[in-house]
Amino acid sequence: MAEQPESITVIGGGLAGLAAATRMLDRGYDADLTLLERAPFLGGRASTVDYKKYRLDLGQHMHVSGFEVYLEFLTRLGLGDKIRTQPRLEAEFRDGSGRRGKVKDSNTPAPFHLASSLIEFPFISSIDKTSLAGPLLSALLFNYEEDNRQVSFSDWLRRRGTTERSIERLWNQIIVPTLNAPVDEVSVPMGMMILKRILLDKQGGKLGRLDGNLAEIGDKASNFVESQEGTVRLSSPVNSVEPAEDGKWRVKLSDGELVESEKVLSAVPGHRLEKILSETTLNKFSRPFWNLEWNSILNVHLFFSESVMDREFFGFLEGTAGWVFNVDWNESDSGKHVCLTMSDPGELENLDTEELVDLVKQELTGALPRINEATMVDSVVLHQPKATFKPKPGSSSFRPSQNPEIRGLYVAGDWTDTGWPSTMEGAVRSGYLAADEILGDSAR
Ligand SMILES: Cc1cc2nc3c(=O)[nH]c(=O)nc-3n(C[C@H](O)[C@H](O)[C@H](O)COP(=O)(O)OP(=O)(O)OC[C@H]3O[C@@H](n4cnc5c(N)ncnc54)[C@H](O)[C@@H]3O)c2cc1C
Repeated sequence: MAEQPESITVIGGGLAGLAAATRMLDRGYDADLTLLERAPFLGGRASTVDYKKYRLDLGQHMHVSGFEVYLEFLTRLGLGDKIRTQPRLEAEFRDGSGRRGKVKDSNTPAPFHLASSLIEFPFISSIDKTSLAGPLLSALLFNYEEDNRQVSFSDWLRRRGTTERSIERLWNQIIVPTLNAPVDEVSVPMGMMILKRILLDKQGGKLGRLDGNLAEIGDKASNFVESQEGTVRLSSPVNSVEPAEDGKWRVKLSDGELVESEKVLSAVPGHRLEKILSETTLNKFSRPFWNLEWNSILNVHLFFSESVMDREFFGFLEGTAGWVFNVDWNESDSGKHVCLTMSDPGELENLDTEELVDLVKQELTGALPRINEATMVDSVVLHQPKATFKPKPGSSSFRPSQNPEIRGLYVAGDWTDTGWPSTMEGAVRSGYLAADEILGDSAR
């Protein structure tokens, strides 16, 4: 480590801020480190809230085995034994009529390990299936990422012969839940990442979740930071961040308290950072991050008197399309708490709660017929209007480096430049990158 800064303030205790703080302490930083979090809990978008007697995660937060840095972070925090990842990729899909199909890793070597299940996939025709060959082969043979940042993934697929139906029934089913945007609004490098890292990568594409609640990540990270003499302050919203004349930064909390430090690492989402920086500081960013657009996610939780679901999750191919989770999978109450996660919900987010719950329950009954015999005892909808940024063509030019070259100011968050989409992996990577910039670069 270069000469260490005398004080660092991290703003935001989501995965990016927690990863950054952990990394700096792990690298031996032992001066003054304070993390300020607006909410009364840590974790940000990957956290847990209380609803009546239930503890609900804000989204089910799947990982793929290729999330190397995120999984390493969990292990570092002591959560390694809670990481549950499939031995082989297997994802079931169901429609409202009860029809089922699977995308499954066979014993065939990569990149052909999914081929036999795609050939049998019942929701698209033989012509649609044949149209998959062009893009898959092109992705294997050529590198399209660099030259196609301004092109939409759907245009790229169409140019390689993909049919509209397979875009709708297959590609959107993969791209919408992973990137929270339809293929029309996804850039080629981002679509390609899903194609190469999930579909064509036998080792990296296995799906998984953390056993237990996401709150454990925040709890463990907070314990670690405090055990290393760092300070975590909850319920401490930051109103403004200004450079002071002595070369330090002045962080002002909403109650007027001032916190001064040599370095500031903002780990809040871009749409919040824009509000706490002055226009003078914003003008120093070479990338206009405020142009990034954000998209919402809806989680519709239904609670039943008895079990209605006997799988951990499946992709749902109806109007309220999304992924359906058996939230208490592996527990004694398995199958009673079902959650439909709707990425990019469009018009559905304008329905009132009761209408939405009724619609979801009605549509899900085809895929989960046991709902007919069970009583729905409760329901709740969690709506996150700014869940992820849209990985639109051209959006990479809005994502700033973790070191934007503004003396003493650093940024982290899934929206900063990591090359990854808005994911837990992107968030943790950004935190590590920012931490390394701060510690390796303290003379700048
Ligand atoms: C419903 C949902 C489902 C998702 N599903 C998945 C998934 O399955 N897989 C996946 O990989 N990713 C998923 N994501 C995305 C993932 O949650 C995010 O990419 C990641 O958590 C972002 O972390 P972050 O630290 O960059 O930002 P955040 O989690 O947003 O953290 C920012 C923190 O800053 C705090 N903050 C904001 N303003 C201030 C302020 N003024 N002062 C102090 N603190 C402030 C916030 O309270 C928050 O704690 C999902 C997201 C949502 C919303």
